[in-house]
Amino acid sequence: MTQFAERRKRAAIALAEHAADAIIVSGLPNVRYLTGFTGSNGLLILSPGHALLLSDPRYTIQAGQEADCAIRIARGSLYEVAAKVVARKKWKRVAIERGRMTHGGFLELDDKLGAGVRLRPIGGLVERLRMVKSSSEIDAIRKSVQTNSRAFDEAIRSIRPDMTETGLAAELEYRMRQSGAERPAFETIVASGARTALPHAQPTGEKLHKLLLVDMGCMQAGYASDMTRMLHLGKPGPQARKLYRAVLEAQLAALAAVRAGTKAGEVDRAARKVLKAHGFDKAFVHSTGHGLGLEIHEAPRLGKKDETVLETGMAITIEPGAYIEGVGGVRIEDTVVVTDSGCDVLTPTSKELVVV
Ligand code: ZN
Ligand code: ZN
Repeated sequence: MTQFAERRKRAAIALAEHAADAIIVSGLPNVRYLTGFTGSNGLLILSPGHALLLSDPRYTIQAGQEADCAIRIARGSLYEVAAKVVARKKWKRVAIERGRMTHGGFLELDDKLGAGVRLRPIGGLVERLRMVKSSSEIDAIRKSVQTNSRAFDEAIRSIRPDMTETGLAAELEYRMRQSGAERPAFETIVASGARTALPHAQPTGEKLHKLLLVDMGCMQAGYASDMTRMLHLGKPGPQARKLYRAVLEAQLAALAAVRAGTKAGEVDRAARKVLKAHGFDKAFVHSTGHGLGLEIHEAPRLGKKDETVLETGMAITIEPGAYIEGVGGVRIEDTVVVTDSGCDVLTPTSKELVVV
């Protein structure tokens, strides 16, 4: 049995709990997870013992090479084909993926299905399976992390006083592709000076100065990496150093809290406790981390109230931060894998504040 067939079997078992005859998988990362198909247009119709991948003629060759299940190539709407399959199979209760299907897709499917068919939106069925990574997935994430860190190391050597935020972002992305990445996992964040206080800053044409935040990740063999590091152009002042030390301490505390059996929320609380002791608790405006894999943001979310129990093999980020308007912000982020006794930090890059 291929790894994809194995995953489909587990998905079909999970589906049984929802009393549905079949599920129409429309989230492309979920389609990829269950079939191997990496195209940009696809639907998977999955029921116990039956899997049919639908795509269009652009993907005839690719789907045949990648997917290990039955394939139907159709012109026009895939939802129309899906509705015909449902009618032929005489299914009455069909699950769809909440939060993955477009509203237009839902309306079209609902319209084409017979009156006696109930569409049942369910959330997170495949996403839950995806939380715990196989050893080959962990290898892929490790490779992606290494490429990302290499690109960072190479790019920061080329930092010059007249370089702009966009210039450095371009250098980072060029280097990651040169090292084997397919693409950035998200829009590379380069922010300098007071703009580091914007957790998701977009790079601008501003010249790099003083405190510099780089948050970057790449996709390699389909798997994401994610890292944030801080640099300082010139000698950092006491304020920047204080903020940096506090966030580093929080990040180390959160890393120390990770282990199988711990709730995701407890890891978040470990980071928050440290920042509170330094008086920066109100400056920490996001959660401590997130799962990653075929997508840059996956379950679990390491937020205050997340009750997910961490399991060996989960790939997550640990990234506390503190942001002060008009002054600047600091975030430090690693990609780690949960183990029985703690975690394996995949990110090899040093966490010292890099002074350039
Ligand atoms: Zn990041
Ligand atoms: Zn992240």
